[in-house]
Amino acid sequence: MWRTIHTVQQSAVRSSLLLRRWASSNTAAAQNTTAHARISHHSDVGVKVGETVNGFTIKGIESIPELSLTAVQHVHDKTGAVGLHIARADDNNVFSIGFRTPPEDSSGVTHVLEHVSLCGSEKYPCRDPFFKMLSRSMATYMNAWTASDYTMYPFSTQNANDYNNLLDVYLDAVLHPSIRELDFLQEGWRLENENPNDKSTDLQFKGVVFNEMKGALSDPDRLFCTRFQQALFPGSTYGNVSGGDPPSILSKLDVNVLREFHRTHYHPSNARVYTYGDLPLTRHFESIGPLFDSFDKLVADTEVGPVPRWTEPCEVIAHCPPDTMAAHADRQTKASIGWLLQKEDAYEGFCQRILTSLLVDGSSSPMYIALIESQLGSDYTPNTGLDTSTREPSFSVGLQGIKESDIPMVKDMIEKTIQKTMEDGFEAERVEAVLHQIELSQRDQTTSFGLGLAAALMGPWVNDCDPVELLQIQAHVERFRTDMADPYFVKNFFERHLISNQHRLTFIMTPDEKFTNNLAQQEADYLKEVVSTLSDESRDRVYEQGLQLLKEQETTPDLSCLPTLRVEDIERKIHQVAREKRSLSTSKGASVDTQFCEQPTNQMTYMRTIFNTQNVPAHLKPYIPLFCSVLPSLGAGSRDYRELGQKTKLWTGGIRLSPLLVQDRNDTSKHSEGIMLLARCLDRNLEHTTSLCSDILNESHFDGTEQRLYTLVKMAYSDMANSVSDAGHHFAITRAAASLTQYDAMTEVYGGLTQIDFMRKLAEQQDQQEILSKLRELASHVFMTSNARCAINADSIGMRAAETQLERLLNTLPSDRPTQSGSNESSGEYSLPSFNQEKLYVPLPVNVNFVAKSVASIPSNHEDSATLQVLTSLLSAKFLHREVREKNGAYGGGLSAGSGSLSYYSYRDPGFEATLKAYNEAPQYLLSGDYSESDVEEAKLTVFQRMDKPVSPGSKGMSGFVYGVSNEARQRHRDRLFAVDREALVQATNKYLVNRQDEKTVIIGPGEDAQTFEKMDGWSIKA
Ligand SMILES: [Zn+2]
Repeated sequence: MWRTIHTVQQSAVRSSLLLRRWASSNTAAAQNTTAHARISHHSDVGVKVGETVNGFTIKGIESIPELSLTAVQHVHDKTGAVGLHIARADDNNVFSIGFRTPPEDSSGVTHVLEHVSLCGSEKYPCRDPFFKMLSRSMATYMNAWTASDYTMYPFSTQNANDYNNLLDVYLDAVLHPSIRELDFLQEGWRLENENPNDKSTDLQFKGVVFNEMKGALSDPDRLFCTRFQQALFPGSTYGNVSGGDPPSILSKLDVNVLREFHRTHYHPSNARVYTYGDLPLTRHFESIGPLFDSFDKLVADTEVGPVPRWTEPCEVIAHCPPDTMAAHADRQTKASIGWLLQKEDAYEGFCQRILTSLLVDGSSSPMYIALIESQLGSDYTPNTGLDTSTREPSFSVGLQGIKESDIPMVKDMIEKTIQKTMEDGFEAERVEAVLHQIELSQRDQTTSFGLGLAAALMGPWVNDCDPVELLQIQAHVERFRTDMADPYFVKNFFERHLISNQHRLTFIMTPDEKFTNNLAQQEADYLKEVVSTLSDESRDRVYEQGLQLLKEQETTPDLSCLPTLRVEDIERKIHQVAREKRSLSTSKGASVDTQFCEQPTNQMTYMRTIFNTQNVPAHLKPYIPLFCSVLPSLGAGSRDYRELGQKTKLWTGGIRLSPLLVQDRNDTSKHSEGIMLLARCLDRNLEHTTSLCSDILNESHFDGTEQRLYTLVKMAYSDMANSVSDAGHHFAITRAAASLTQYDAMTEVYGGLTQIDFMRKLAEQQDQQEILSKLRELASHVFMTSNARCAINADSIGMRAAETQLERLLNTLPSDRPTQSGSNESSGEYSLPSFNQEKLYVPLPVNVNFVAKSVASIPSNHEDSATLQVLTSLLSAKFLHREVREKNGAYGGGLSAGSGSLSYYSYRDPGFEATLKAYNEAPQYLLSGDYSESDVEEAKLTVFQRMDKPVSPGSKGMSGFVYGVSNEARQRHRDRLFAVDREALVQATNKYLVNRQDEKTVIIGPGEDAQTFEKMDGWSIKA
């Protein structure tokens, strides 16, 4: 799915494919969750089946108690637009309109149209209304997504007036976009002089989507999944790259194609309208009805037919650039087998989810045991699992990081494992564990529940599945339990979908040294060809167009047409979270500070313990991230890692350890370090859960688990290395800031390029025994009550039991461990690696740049920190967005305020010079005062929007517990935010951005510029 990330900070919903992944143990999404206090559900939705309101007729009403919601299906009589309303006591209301948009080629028409429809519409003729609305709204989410066969435009907000404003802008954008040629050139592709002001400079291909897709397809995982899908669906719409394959974008797309596609697809007759939350449905009808009424019915031929089935299996080999970060140069092949499944109804889809999950998910699954533990590769291929984003779902499994010569063995292992599973079936407890995870995902209310539902339902819905059937999970669970009692059920399932299924693809990807060069050469050749056919007249036109675009980018847009919320609409007082703080006494005489936060958690308990790691010896600190990630997966107490993994799924919503670095709020030279344990579970499983925690903290298996550790290390490293192309700006910022404070240095050690280098060494190392002894030593320094403080979030009924169980857990910990004197290393100050290079170029396997520049800043309690927040928001939205994204063609860019540092960054940047120039000019923009009062107001709104995001009951009170922010400090900061004015911004600019002597610049790039940088003054190249 190609998601337009209109702002980098909103990209968090990336992983909100809630239902798609709900059966897997990956509960990361549940961390930033949600909630809402009033999970009662009323089935009175104010309408009746058969009734017609504002031109909409109600087709069905269904109450789904297990999800605390009522689903209402309706249709707009005149146009045939279909709609689904989910009534639920949740004030984070969602709207989404989606269209069926199966592409006929890889020109990216749907993706470019998604972008261009946001470049101005009839009623709102201003560029990028989404981005502009971001700072005029309290939206909790705004974006647009292009999937394989649909395009959707979702938003969410907690403010009813805001909802109306956004709804109006969204509907005008999709139904009446301007689709001007200039916008197409800007967003799609164009020829332009390298320097648009200089006619004598060479012509180049430019364009937002063109660059975005070059970047996306340089991500090895994306490239693999994209080429795999193309190979599994030849001759079908899914055989195309809906985001656009760069060469096809250039050769096939112009503005007229876009206009025609819009006319035939972005029409109410081809639309799916989704509304969610506690706003009444009749209110939505009132707003949407009149807009749809102005359309006539269109017979839109957009249906995706069944995919032509193969009569025999097929094998495809594709190529990718070599991975210079690979731990083993000769192990870079990925091999997988994929099947196109059949799906008769929602229940069959449910079974596919559960049974494929049982086959591949978790360390006790048959495929994990066969493939991952074979040590032939590093991890599953990125397409592993069930993919329901296409009309008929597909299932794949494979191994990456293997030797080319091992391909036959991997194929053989996959086939044998399926055969064996058919004979053995699945252990009853594993099945229960998966069903338990389903129950948990229903109870655990996330802040993005409505949005996640929209994303999960849209794919099946555009292909005419009944979305309400997909929600009837309880009925499916019961039927599934009955079916599993049949000894042939599993066997027949795999027989039907995998064994006798001829639509089976073996897909292999191997590195090719020339891959990147070939791509660049192809583009260069095509450019030459296009340029050679240009008449002088056309060349003039290209130049004129370039100037025109530049001029347009430089004019200050008139935003007066757009609706807006005002700062005075924002609540002045902070929302106080009631917390009680007490000490718990352990049986060993220790006392542990504990925070109790009573919340409507829906019979779930969230238990957190922070262990201080400040005194951990220096040589052990780089191991802390690895320690946290592997500890719950090594095996503990009487259970090996498989059994531990299974019990964790059977009883808990996850037991997680994470490293913690907290900057001091008054002094940037100080910080604290810790490890946080988080356990979530249904109240009825509390006792089991604390027992598991106790085993993990006290009795983890550091002996005889070398092989297991090696597997985990390889997986962790390959995850991290793969994340660079997606999160390069994060790595660039972290590295640039690393020399500014101790806190930033530790952030680099824990999660920056330094950690990647460290992990790479561990992944190359054969002797895992040494690592295990380091981890054991770490555990002995960390897990004791003298180091600990705790927090519980539970509802009023569960709180008592939670306290008792927490005490039980604390009683199992020593109050202090004797420090192992005689330990050779000193435990003094950690001697950090040197991060002192002023300007550093980091060559990595990416094909775009990430450019960061950092300077030291102030602690968060400082009186200027509110001003700096508004300043970064203003500068990012008004200046850097224009310069770095619109003019330079990067995917994003801005100034971010970290804890104690300020960092400019660009994301997927085709260049770096113009970007660095923009950074240098940024302070001048702020000093010149070339922005209005309302720009300052908008910047404030953006800050409040981030600050007032909904927080789940399970996470309430954490800013106090983790970061030590008092209610007084929060209120003081809020008051200061309201008070920021232009004068304050100018003063802060002079104070914090002008004439800095401590600037550090880091560029992560593809390496081809390394020689240029070598010759440039002051630059170092990272080895
Ligand atoms: Zn995009």
